[in-house]
Amino acid sequence: MERLKNKVAVITGGNSGIGFGIAEAFKNEGAVGTITGRNEVTLQDSIKALNGEFIAVKGDVTHLDDLENIFKKTAEKFGKIDALVVNAGGVVDGIAMNTVDQTTEESYDKYMELNLKSAYFTVQKSLPYLNDGASIILIGSSAAHRAAPGMAIYSAAKAAIISLAKGLSLDLLSRKIRVNALSPGSIDTPVFGKLVSEEQLEQVKQMWIDITPVGRQGLPSDIGNAAVFLASDESSFIIGTEILSDGGLTNIS
Ligand code: NDP
Repeated sequence: MERLKNKVAVITGGNSGIGFGIAEAFKNEGAVGTITGRNEVTLQDSIKALNGEFIAVKGDVTHLDDLENIFKKTAEKFGKIDALVVNAGGVVDGIAMNTVDQTTEESYDKYMELNLKSAYFTVQKSLPYLNDGASIILIGSSAAHRAAPGMAIYSAAKAAIISLAKGLSLDLLSRKIRVNALSPGSIDTPVFGKLVSEEQLEQVKQMWIDITPVGRQGLPSDIGNAAVFLASDESSFIIGTEILSDGGLTNIS
């Protein structure tokens, strides 16, 4: 199928995990565009795996100049943008998530900057380069709905992503730009290696398998498939809401 034929997409953090899964799914549906990240090696590997249909633009999403450059380079290569996936986020390099008694002001600011502020400004900086009628997909998290020790700041930032989808979709209604949040449950990506030691990794993944009603972790392609739907015209009546792709995780008490 070519549900995204001739569409131009930008996927931040498209060089790893969920972002790469979304880029692959978009490519398979006929899209072209840009993946971003800071790691040159994984960017180049990902471009190769995407068979040259995408370009890589290196940038830090917490730097507003880098964000502008990402959209400028994309428009120079492909023209205006039809789909923006605001996916870069998660764990801040070198700063562990922590419980409230252990959290510094710097750690709070860095997590909010990566998981909330950067999403807002990614959208803002994209606006001059978006086609009217474009689809913006903000990657949220089931953590917006489920508490876990040490994850209060991340959960709060991701809960705010859902509010951003609602508010921004009204701000952008006059241009018929749709904004929705897509919230993954536990997805098997390199992020777990950033959160726990190698010895704990298999145990932690098994814990997620055990508590996810469908009995497995999600794959990046599960999120890719949902993102294709939200980027395509099939979802044209879906505006300012959240879709959860979590194997039932948020349904359990
Ligand atoms: P990964 O760690 O595999 O990927 C994170 C991506 O974000 C990488 O491409 C990384 O690229 C990029 N990134 C991180 N910081 C920055 C930065 N400052 N500037 C630019 N790019 C940055 O994680 P996932 O694929 O698992 O996570 C992707 C998204 O999905 C995140 O928003 C995360 O919160 C969300 N999520 C993940 C879940 C999961 O279970 N995996 C569950 C729910 C939500 P680089 O390092 O090259 O900069």
